[in-house]
Amino acid sequence: MGRKFFVGGNWKCNGTTEEVKKIVTTLNEAEVPSEDVVEVVVSPPFVFLPFVKSLLRPDFQVAAQNCWVRKGGAFTGEVSAEMLVNLNIPWVILGHSERRALLNESNEFVADKVAYALSQGLKVIACIGETLEQRESGSTVAVVAAQTKAIADKISNWANVVLAYEPVWAIGTGKVATPAQAQEVHFELRKWLSENVSAEVAASTRIIYGGSVNGGNCKELAAQPDVDGFLVGGASLKPEFIDIIKSAT
Ligand code: PEP
Repeated sequence: MGRKFFVGGNWKCNGTTEEVKKIVTTLNEAEVPSEDVVEVVVSPPFVFLPFVKSLLRPDFQVAAQNCWVRKGGAFTGEVSAEMLVNLNIPWVILGHSERRALLNESNEFVADKVAYALSQGLKVIACIGETLEQRESGSTVAVVAAQTKAIADKISNWANVVLAYEPVWAIGTGKVATPAQAQEVHFELRKWLSENVSAEVAASTRIIYGGSVNGGNCKELAAQPDVDGFLVGGASLKPEFIDIIKSAT
């Protein structure tokens, strides 16, 4: 089963109305492979989501960067999955390492969010990844397997999940994983899915790489057999995001 290349742009907590308009204009004017070849999803901060959605070319989609873990209500400051669905926002990023680290989001909490978002009809970019300390102690595969297991224990349908392997030491640091390092973890993750979920889920689930991807390093990473695309932070705010989208072909 073919896995369509996926390129996500995580704008994080960046941008003014003017800057957002400029990024969208650049995206709208770009010549990129067709949506049969590459799925492009950009993720502005909540406050800009409807604005970006209204301006963005129809072959690109939008994602929220987070959502609340269950039905909305008396949870000041949160945004619910139901609200995203109501606004026709199709995707949400969950479990980003910045939230895991800064807001203490545990594997179980992230998994609960993934399960709830899916139950409401959202598609999920679920982020996992090890710290430098964990990599240096040789526990990379055990860490990402535990993060994936927490999710697997709570969902039964993986059709609307993209797994984003994002080593924490590579995020925003300029230290990209080598193609071999990325491929090794993606291979292990696919093996884990095959052995613990099903061969079909392993074959069809997109596993994308994130961590200092840019216009210069994307091609070689994209050539790895188990790398099905990227989640891009810093470079998604720049014109080189177009080059990253083009690495699909
Ligand atoms: C990210 O935040 O998901 C990310 C991969 O960031 P960067 O590309 O800036 O390392």
